[in-house]
Amino acid sequence: MRFQANDGCIHYRMRRIMRTIISAFLMLFCIDTYGQTVMSTLEGKKVLLVYGGWEGHQPKIKSEVISQWLIKQKAEVIVSNSTEIYADSDIMDRIDLIIQIITMSDIREKEIKGLLDTIKSGTGFAGCHGGIGDSFRNNTQYQYMVGGQFVSHPGGQLHYKVHVIDGHHPITKDIEDFSVHTEQYYMHVDPNNTVLATTVFQSEAHQWIQGAVMPVVWIKHFGKGRVFYSSLGHALKDMTHPESWTILINGIQWAAQSKFVEHHNLLNPIYEY
Ligand SMILES: [Zn+2]
Repeated sequence: MRFQANDGCIHYRMRRIMRTIISAFLMLFCIDTYGQTVMSTLEGKKVLLVYGGWEGHQPKIKSEVISQWLIKQKAEVIVSNSTEIYADSDIMDRIDLIIQIITMSDIREKEIKGLLDTIKSGTGFAGCHGGIGDSFRNNTQYQYMVGGQFVSHPGGQLHYKVHVIDGHHPITKDIEDFSVHTEQYYMHVDPNNTVLATTVFQSEAHQWIQGAVMPVVWIKHFGKGRVFYSSLGHALKDMTHPESWTILINGIQWAAQSKFVEHHNLLNPIYEY
């Protein structure tokens, strides 16, 4: 009996050692460029990354950083610098996730139709700051899909806090409240979004909004498609700020599952009926 117990103990130790080695191996291959540990859920996923629009938001370099990260996660990445690709149904039908980095700019009717139909059918859509939160300003159907639109960043570059209001969701899990020095987006938002993080305005420039609470990170559905948005990421350094980057890549991974998971209701009305 004692021999069997010892034998079991040896096996138990061996299993622990093996588990430690496997964990170390996984950690090694899952640490991204900015030191955040993530488990890859993007392997084999087809991701379309479209960039363009206002150069002040550094769309090209941001798209390069994101596409390099996606390739490390073994995603199949298509990069385009034109919204014309949204009208190409052969490509759009195959895509699991669209990431967009286009501030302002315009979009043609057949392109916006291609984009919205693809998301409605189940493809995920993800992005940050003006890249999806201030695109195609005159297109209300686009804003209906995103769930918000940038309208101002009072005071320009500011020091402010981001408050995580859901520390259990996979996108904001284990992220504490944090501070940033960047633009603080004031947005017109869909009051039915599921909000994961907020910020409070302490604006001296616009005193009437002192104390205003504004969503920073939200998720929603558009048809069968998952939509993820974070307002953080003005310049490249703001996008790759540790917590902002973690939220962004978690959001990308969450939205990339859109076609592969059962959907739960994400309507989260803030007003009582
Ligand atoms: Zn900006």
